[in-house]
Amino acid sequence: MTQKSTPCLARTEHEIDTWHLHTDVAIVGCGGAGACAAIEAADAGANVRVFEAASAPGGSTALSGGEVYLGGNGGTRMQRTFGFTDSSENMIAYLHMQHGAQADADKIRAYVEGGADHFDWLCEQGVPFKESYLEERLVEPITDDCLIWSGNEKAWPEVDTCTPVPRAHVVQKVGMGAGEVLMAQLVQAMTQRPQITLTCDARALCLIENAQGDVVGITVRIDGEEYHCRATGGVILCAGGFVMNETMLKQYAPKLLRCSMPIGNPNDTGAGIQMGQSVGAAAINMHEGFASIPYYPPASLTYGIVVTDKGQRFVNEDAYHGRIGSMLLEQICERAYLIADVEAYGSYEEMNFLAADVAGTGDSIEELEAELGMTPGTLSHTVSLYNTWAAKGEDPLFHKQAAWLRPLEPPYVALDVTPGRGCFMPYFTLGGLDTAPTGEARRIDGSVVTGLYAAGRNAAGVPRRGFGYNSGISVGDATFFGRMAGRAAAQRALQLR
Ligand SMILES: Cc1cc2nc3c(=O)[nH]c(=O)nc-3n(C[C@H](O)[C@H](O)[C@H](O)COP(=O)(O)OP(=O)(O)OC[C@H]3O[C@@H](n4cnc5c(N)ncnc54)[C@H](O)[C@@H]3O)c2cc1C
Repeated sequence: MTQKSTPCLARTEHEIDTWHLHTDVAIVGCGGAGACAAIEAADAGANVRVFEAASAPGGSTALSGGEVYLGGNGGTRMQRTFGFTDSSENMIAYLHMQHGAQADADKIRAYVEGGADHFDWLCEQGVPFKESYLEERLVEPITDDCLIWSGNEKAWPEVDTCTPVPRAHVVQKVGMGAGEVLMAQLVQAMTQRPQITLTCDARALCLIENAQGDVVGITVRIDGEEYHCRATGGVILCAGGFVMNETMLKQYAPKLLRCSMPIGNPNDTGAGIQMGQSVGAAAINMHEGFASIPYYPPASLTYGIVVTDKGQRFVNEDAYHGRIGSMLLEQICERAYLIADVEAYGSYEEMNFLAADVAGTGDSIEELEAELGMTPGTLSHTVSLYNTWAAKGEDPLFHKQAAWLRPLEPPYVALDVTPGRGCFMPYFTLGGLDTAPTGEARRIDGSVVTGLYAAGRNAAGVPRRGFGYNSGISVGDATFFGRMAGRAAAQRALQLR
């Protein structure tokens, strides 16, 4: 009888007495990446088995805002409807600015060139998008609207190089959390394809490789029993990231632990990444994550400034909230504050995500400086310099755009945005298996682990830096590259038939 498996440790084929299940393509996890991989593999002619550890499909994708960051090729149908042209070169240049030296040029190009088609494909699967556009600065619409600005498109330095274009396409749902509608539709599309078998309460334990090191199957646990599933085309790991695994966070991305709230589903334990590593696939970009201080709404707080306990600014405050959160983690300081005047503070107490405490108030900036325990002349100097330039609509230090510049007038308020001191600072991981745009997993030397694919946060995809994250890029990447992996694994299965 076959011995019990050790989670995430690969087994070899010769240890397996019985193959209980056979399929062309086996997929681990049924979130955005897994569902799209399954649909695409089935449409390419393969039989597909999807194993989902939870009692229902959905994963973090179902918990998400349902924002999908897409553009390029002249623009998606939605972008063009509202008069936005988005050339591929424009979007490629933008994504390279977002992700810097960590960017994967091949993935970015594939994602951009296929983005407009991917939007149409999602629509074909029944995912609803209302024909509408919102101009305002927001994190996630509470209406059922679609096209929004969700990144640094209108902020420096991107605005100096790339034509600003809104790219987040939000799935239609009144209220937040449209990811549940996205996943419901994708799962519905799966059920319309008889070649796909979805099994929930089925936890993938380990990969099975042959003597050459090719992945030939997977072991899953269902009702306490282990089942070995042979997958001729290969196994696609779509098991999400590792934000719920504190040991892995400490090992790879300790900086993120300063944030307040890991966001994701309980199975974001990095098991898929570890399974890939167990057969020699490389895990890359593991130190990176999305980290945010979602300080708008109210958008009026963008008129404020963010400073360290030395009273120093470090960023243009009209950037995306994830950029400011990521840069906050890099500052050497014990406290950080968002300084606002009454007008900028606006409706903060009626509606905010940030939940930051008021750390101090002052009828003058010197009074606030003293109340915050800052060295005299620090914050007051910063505000005085800021105000002098803001009056002219300029910010020579950090290049905040004129639309968000005006002198800050007394009285003042400081919100405590220190990581780890109570304000809402969500985070999730952006590291994973190194894959080709086809989803094929790669070893450290760049060679392919035959039969192994990965997508979504199980892989290192297009989003590589918290500094350059845009809302919608994770679901966009997971669904797009899930499809690429599904297609590649199906083609391999058909060739081997
Ligand atoms: C509150 C919230 C809001 C967000 N909003 C957005 C947004 O609007 N736009 C955006 O782009 N990103 C957003 N994100 C991030 C985004 O949702 C995720 O990064 C993305 O959806 C991950 O997709 P995935 O397919 O890789 O993983 P998931 O959707 O998490 O799917 C992975 C699946 O694998 C399963 N699994 C794990 N281990 C195993 C195993 N061993 N065996 C079998 N199954 C397993 C899990 O149960 C899960 O169902 C948000 C995240 C959260 C939490």
